[in-house]
Amino acid sequence: MSSLVGRSAIVTGGARGIGAAIVAALVKEGFGVVIADLLDHEGAELAKNLGDMTRFHHLDVTIEDDWKRVIDCAEGEFGPLEVLVNNAGIVTFGTVESEPPALFRHDLDVDLYGAWLGMHYAAPRLREAGGGVIVNISSTAGLIGYAGIAGYVAAKWGLRGLTKGAALELGPAKIRVCSVHPGPVHTPMTAALDESMVLGQPLPRFGEPEEVAALVRFIVTEGTFSTGSEFVIDGGATAGQTL
Ligand code: NAD
Repeated sequence: MSSLVGRSAIVTGGARGIGAAIVAALVKEGFGVVIADLLDHEGAELAKNLGDMTRFHHLDVTIEDDWKRVIDCAEGEFGPLEVLVNNAGIVTFGTVESEPPALFRHDLDVDLYGAWLGMHYAAPRLREAGGGVIVNISSTAGLIGYAGIAGYVAAKWGLRGLTKGAALELGPAKIRVCSVHPGPVHTPMTAALDESMVLGQPLPRFGEPEEVAALVRFIVTEGTFSTGSEFVIDGGATAGQTL
């Protein structure tokens, strides 16, 4: 059990996929965890299944008032905010030439601006509480380029950069900020992807949400000398291809 009992964590996009696994991992560490998501039914069911140390609250990461309400709820229910995991994300499809401008903007809104808003409203609370941890779930698309998902790639590179700037600003307040860069992981987001795409990876399989959650748990509870750091979890994909 962590020494951080009595403090709260917020996981955006926590109702399913990687976020739900992160919620479960942080509950095991003794945090009171707010599942913050658009998916009211899934989020409420997950909170019910995980027990007293979780609550669901509706959050659209792009809406300022939602953030203010959810942070207040987390602190009211479980104590001062200790951890924010900016995990909510979408992927939009289209090349630089073909993607409709509004769709490109929407990807940036959710995947980049939404995480910035979360840090903007959470950081003062973490500061007041004497420190904390922010984990931004980027992607291998924040480390290399991919064709056909221009908005996603731009947002995930942006999130990696935002992590570095925030780490510099918040380090003196004992707030660590790290980014996590998963390769393909089995979740609803990747359900339509063909698994042959990972054949050239050193570890030629998709990852599981629990593997990403274990890394996030490490960053939060044990990675006490890491900030501004990029944690890659991709079966070796960005190291190179075996085929
Ligand atoms: P998912 O689609 O299963 O879950 C994403 C969650 O985010 C959903 O519950 C969704 O409702 C929520 N969400 C979307 N827009 C939101 C908004 N505006 N406000 C609040 N919540 C919102 O996806 P996942 O695969 O679990 O992805 C989680 C994170 O991991 C994302 O940031 C994604 O980009 C990143 N990621 C996933 C993979 C992968 O292969 N699955 C790889 C690299 C990075």
